[in-house]
Order: sequence, then structure tokens, then C-alpha cells
Amino acid sequence: MSASILISNDDGIYAPGIMALYQAVRPLGEVTVVAPETEQSAVGHAITIADPIKVRPVTRSDGFQGYAVSGTPADCIKLAVGELLPRPPDLVISGINLGPNVGISVIYSGTVSAATEGSILGIPSLAVSLATFQDPLWETAMQAVVPLVRQILRQGLPEHTLLNVNVPNRPVREIRGFRTSRMGRSRFVEVFHRRANPRGDVYYWLDGELQMLGDGVGTDVQAVADNFVAITPLHHDLTHTAALNALGGWCPPWPES
Ligand code: MN
Repeated sequence: MSASILISNDDGIYAPGIMALYQAVRPLGEVTVVAPETEQSAVGHAITIADPIKVRPVTRSDGFQGYAVSGTPADCIKLAVGELLPRPPDLVISGINLGPNVGISVIYSGTVSAATEGSILGIPSLAVSLATFQDPLWETAMQAVVPLVRQILRQGLPEHTLLNVNVPNRPVREIRGFRTSRMGRSRFVEVFHRRANPRGDVYYWLDGELQMLGDGVGTDVQAVADNFVAITPLHHDLTHTAALNALGGWCPPWPES
């Protein structure tokens, strides 16, 4: 039986990156696309509970058919697995994101959150990002996805693990291979642009640049800088285990009444 692959993203169902992902994985299984109607970058793991969620069939070129969802990436995976698919998929893939999801960006990432939702639901999951905001070389990311998907379908992943994959925006021949990595500390250093609309009302627009904060050996940031495809295993259990042990003798006594 052919593998069932669910794909989503946070750049929206009309983004070039999800078309590239669709084309890369279509030969590997039965692909269903469930993705946000509009761009949802940086929504993190938000879900929609105070509004209805609408679903609309979408057809693009090259046989691409999917469902556009008026919600977040996490909504898309919940809805696909809970309602739209006849059975849970064998694999969830989110991407291909335009822009890196390395370092602290992982916390804000809608791309990663779609994959996180998959792993929460017990499905092997993959988030794929291309580390550029301009002149994307989708072909390189497509080449990276194929062996990863084959490997996961053959061997699976450790339980409740998702892989956060970041691909350097370099020609395929310059890529040195895959490298496992840990999440770095680099983050966007941000500025607010303060402007006024024609009516004189002030508004702010957030802008920023990824700053390398001394990320060193073994990080996702370093692997991408070294022209490796970075593979970082993530877990949705956010417990800081080392701190949990250190907190053992830390708790203050409960106040006497
Ligand atoms: Mn995005």
C-alpha cells in the first residue's frame, strides 16, 4: 500500500514552497495538501477556537489539489487528521518554508508548529525550511526532502520526535550532505518601524535581521553556514530537565495560614 503523506506550511497554500514540496514528494506516496488560506508565518503553535474554521478546495497547476483552511498551521494538521483524512497519514511534512527556522526562530515558527502538531498526534513529522528570503533555490530543498522521506517511511523516527530541517540556499552540487544538529541561540534582532497612516494614526511594523549570537559547534546555524543540510530533532515536551533536578531544593515553603 502506498504511503499517505500530509503536507502543510505556514506561507499559505499558494506559496511556491509548498508546490516545490508537493512535486518532490508526489512520487513517494499519496499526497494530501491541507494548508492555510493566507500566510501564517510566525504564528507559532496558535490554534483557532473563537472563530469558525472554513475549508475550501484549491486547484493549482501540475495536478496540485488541496484544501485551503482559514486557520493556522496547527489547525490544518488537527483538521486534516481529525476530519479530512480517512486515516492518519504515515508522515506529516511542513514547508518548504521561505526563510530559515534555526535558533530561537523555531519558537515562533508556524512551519515547525505544523510538524510539532503531527508529532503530538503520534505521526512522524518533518519541517523543511530553505535558509533564504530571496532568490530561493527550491531544487536544492526538493533534493534534500526525498531521501529524508524515504528514510522515515522505511525506518520511522523515535517516538514523538519531529525533525527540523534547514537547507542552505546553495546549488545542489555545493551541498556537503546532511548533518545532525542542535537548536542554536541565534535570534532575530528586531526593530519597530514607527509610521503614520494618511489619517495620522500611528502604527508599528516589526522588522529584523537574524543575528549570529556566537552559535558554535553542533548548532543548526553552524551546519547551514557550513553548507550542510541541518537536521535537528525536536520534542514538544518543553521541560528543562536539568533545571527540574536543580529545583529540587529550591521550592519555598507553602505559607502557614
Ligand atoms: Mn513562513
